[in-house]
Amino acid sequence: MNTKLSAVSDKRVDLTCSAFGHEFSYKIADLILATSDDKTTHEVRQKTVCRGCGVRWDNTYQVV
Ligand SMILES: [Zn+2]
Repeated sequence: MNTKLSAVSDKRVDLTCSAFGHEFSYKIADLILATSDDKTTHEVRQKTVCRGCGVRWDNTYQVV
């Protein structure tokens, strides 16, 4: 998936931690503030950090 954050700014992204299956989510609007609306959801996925264990990079994600 290669969606720009600006196209889904009113949604959120649900992520599942690749290491332990922790589920966490971020509001897209917050991600835009932290990065830029020109980023894609795929790029952001690689920057999000699991709130349960701190793992990043290979988490699975879904925009909802
Ligand atoms: Zn985790």
